[in-house]
Amino acid sequence: MTIPGAIQPFTYRGLPARVVFGGGTLAQAPRELAQLGVTRALVLTTPAQVDQGRAVVELLGDRAAGVFNGAVMHTPVGVTAAALAAYRELRADGVVAIGGGSTIGLGKAIAVRTGAPQLAIPTTYAGSEMTPILGETDGGTKTTRRSLDILPEAVIYDVELTFDLPVALSMTSAINAIAHAAEALYAEDRNPITSMMAESAISSLASVLRVIAADPRSLAARTRALYGAWLCGVCLGTVGMALHHKLCHVLGGSFDLPHAETHTVVLPHAIAYNAPAAPEAMSALARSLGTTDAARGLYELAGAVGAPRSLAALGLPAEALDRAADLAVANPYWNPRPLERAAIRELLERAHSGAPPR
Ligand code: NAD
Repeated sequence: MTIPGAIQPFTYRGLPARVVFGGGTLAQAPRELAQLGVTRALVLTTPAQVDQGRAVVELLGDRAAGVFNGAVMHTPVGVTAAALAAYRELRADGVVAIGGGSTIGLGKAIAVRTGAPQLAIPTTYAGSEMTPILGETDGGTKTTRRSLDILPEAVIYDVELTFDLPVALSMTSAINAIAHAAEALYAEDRNPITSMMAESAISSLASVLRVIAADPRSLAARTRALYGAWLCGVCLGTVGMALHHKLCHVLGGSFDLPHAETHTVVLPHAIAYNAPAAPEAMSALARSLGTTDAARGLYELAGAVGAPRSLAALGLPAEALDRAADLAVANPYWNPRPLERAAIRELLERAHSGAPPR
């Protein structure tokens, strides 16, 4: 008799983080900071979310030192230096990052340099708050490091903060999150716990995207989406990623393409590339998407919610494809299917034109 879903030997390492999840949970920020021993928090935001930062300062009262509203994408070291100067000048002893992956990245950059305790309050689905990973840019070069000192100690997921996340960014950010869980299903160090989270995460997100596109303030749909995004972040933090994340790193880092949109366009093609080498992961992915063909299902999901499906539409010139393919195979890394430059070049060509995945 064959036993379905045989469990292979594995190693699992859970990451420490306290998570407060729900609607209206932002109100618990003072208590969370008190538990971290923070008496003067520097609140971090992007320029676009400074009002949310000021509201947090008001909520924190004496426990707030001030706002630094200069967070930008890819955590440039110059911005970190300016934020550190504010941190020291205001005699802060902890950070609160309210925003997407860019703001949370700045909080991590301060924490790894100062030991500051971090409270992350994510407002997108990118998942950075659940990872011990920090990507930083210096003079156009992006480097990534991993350390437990980078992982935020506490995270507040307040569903109400996602109501005003623009619909277009909600869709691409959600598919960015799905990419973490999709690659976790075939990760070299995959394990039953992370795979269980990945399946649940993908179905939570995929089942509500159409609802959010039509009704962005649906509490039930936004709750499922944020819950799924949390689990996707755990997947990203606990197992290694592969071709899809490498391609997006290359396209974002070397060609300055926008983060969530690039993930959205590339994902169906990267999944199609890896499909022959990862049949079990494909079954799980298709199941959680409610379809029979995982790559096609992802492509159709993006189309159904009006998300971009072509790199050309994101501004990548066709002449960049050769260099992108070269960079994607330049430094070997683990992938379920060996890296074949010609096939990756073809993958990029299809993603560029907006054609369905092969
Ligand atoms: P982002 O943080 O750059 O946010 C995009 C824009 O949306 C910003 O202007 C932001 O202020 C605004 N915004 C965010 N939430 C909003 C809301 N609820 N309402 C209105 N506006 C809102 O985008 P992102 O996709 O969340 O993060 C991308 C960055 O995060 C990249 O630099 C990426 O490399 C990094 N990232 C890192 C990790 C990691 O583990 N280190 C994981 C995921 C992403």
